[in-house]
Amino acid sequence: MTLIRAQQTEARRPAAAAKLEPHHAPAHPACRSCGAPLGTVFADLGPMPVSNAFVRPEQAAGGEKFYPLKVCVCERCWLVQTENHMAPETHFHDDYAYFSGYSETWLAHCRAFAAHAVERFGLNSQSRVVEIASNDGHLLQYFVHRRIPCLGVDPAANCAKVAWDEHRVRTDVAFFGTRTAARLLEQSGTADLIVANNVLAHVPDINDFVAGFKILLKPEGTASFEFPHILELIRNSQFDTIYHEHYSYPSLIALKPLFRRHGLDIVDVERLQTHGGSLRLYVRHAETAAAAGRTVSEIEAEEVAAGLTSAKAYAAFDARVHALKQALRILLIDLTHANKTVVGYGAPAKGNTLLNFCGIGTDILPFTADRSTHKQGLLLPGTHIPIRAPEEIFAFRPDFVLMLPWNLREEIMTQLAGIRAWGGKFIVPVPWPTVLD
Ligand SMILES: [Zn+2]
Repeated sequence: MTLIRAQQTEARRPAAAAKLEPHHAPAHPACRSCGAPLGTVFADLGPMPVSNAFVRPEQAAGGEKFYPLKVCVCERCWLVQTENHMAPETHFHDDYAYFSGYSETWLAHCRAFAAHAVERFGLNSQSRVVEIASNDGHLLQYFVHRRIPCLGVDPAANCAKVAWDEHRVRTDVAFFGTRTAARLLEQSGTADLIVANNVLAHVPDINDFVAGFKILLKPEGTASFEFPHILELIRNSQFDTIYHEHYSYPSLIALKPLFRRHGLDIVDVERLQTHGGSLRLYVRHAETAAAAGRTVSEIEAEEVAAGLTSAKAYAAFDARVHALKQALRILLIDLTHANKTVVGYGAPAKGNTLLNFCGIGTDILPFTADRSTHKQGLLLPGTHIPIRAPEEIFAFRPDFVLMLPWNLREEIMTQLAGIRAWGGKFIVPVPWPTVLD
């Protein structure tokens, strides 16, 4: 326990500085990991609405809040992060509209992960799995099917209800950090596996979050973290994955000292195709961790070779993003001038960054279509483009469909293959605006 207490104390140091950030705009914002002052600008996307703050039609005349969306890199630990001035409560509220359990590609990914984890870590009915940011329980359901005890942790109460009603997944409604970890430890002990898929980036106080894993993880347990890899973001100009709710954009190089600060070591890493190229890290207590697998040093070397330990590689990104904006605007405006119709497909957070940054409104996209019935009938934040059911694409028969969740490209092209009947074509905005033939 002495060790854990020491780690917690250390965790509070940088975290205390970070607490000033959400509500104020300090002259020199500090790195949310190591506390150094932030320097180089990585991308400045201007004022943006909160990307998941969908607007009800009756509220459309009421106005919305816009916040600066500027991402910088820490030149001490190389963590790319938002220079954020928003309180996290703004992002998560009771009717949080994001249910990620709808894409078939994603469900297949979750099912495969559960099977892989059960085998790799020898999980059984005596084990305990905890998932942080478990949403509607769509991942944990695969552990429930195998009768492995599990618990979700998620701040959205409505997601927790769906998780129980539909998947019999129990959820503790809370943000995860040292306080929640200590409470869960007292209530039901340590966990053999803690899963944190696509949540690390969403955490404002990243030190307190990681310190929570140190508390809740069994001495021989493993924590698994998935996150979009900044190297792919840079290589493929995936600037639209930047939004206020994504506080950090990690590399392996940036995460290593963060975990080490809290007595945890990265022991293995896998490359994933999800979200345009992600990493899955396996992390264990430093005291029991084996030597890191070869892939860890391979990916680290790749990051260094790509320039991720020098400010230059980061600084070049902003100009590329602005060039992409112009190219997409020219493509869409030219099509409109030629009397071609374009509609959107999908209403993901990344679509809202793209459309707001590029200034694309209802004059170009009369609507976008999304399979989620939770989103249909609402308007996209900022642009107020209406969200309709996918069937409406077939009624409208547009010449082009702008694909907003480009990470689901293959799945969407299969679902909407019917648009070819009237000569309809797809446009992908990233890595460069392109009409797919
Ligand atoms: Zn730093």
